[in-house]
Amino acid sequence: MTATDTRPPVDVPAGLLPSLQFPDLGTLPDERGRGAACLWGGEPLSIATALDLGEHPHEGTTLFLRGCRVCTLRAALAAHKAHPGMCEQCTDDPSICEIRRGLRRLALELRR
Ligand SMILES: [Zn+2]
Ligand SMILES: [Zn+2]
Repeated sequence: MTATDTRPPVDVPAGLLPSLQFPDLGTLPDERGRGAACLWGGEPLSIATALDLGEHPHEGTTLFLRGCRVCTLRAALAAHKAHPGMCEQCTDDPSICEIRRGLRRLALELRR
């Protein structure tokens, strides 16, 4: 990290992680399981481009997952689209659903 790097990193709120569709963690290549490569596409990641997707305990180890911007955006858009069908709040009144709003905000931030 240098002083000239001023682009604010996009933060993926932990509350939205369960809505994102992850690949099968059991068959994840090692470098994706430790956050060295994009969880979805397997692209090599740098600190500047990687998005933190949190720690996920899996079969006795802890996976540290990260994604590139492009794949995370794709996952956020897919989640945003699929979400209302799985959410009671959205059946009632989608305008006050925090998760739906959060997914939308995340997708907008990633697009920048
Ligand atoms: Zn990717
Ligand atoms: Zn909802």
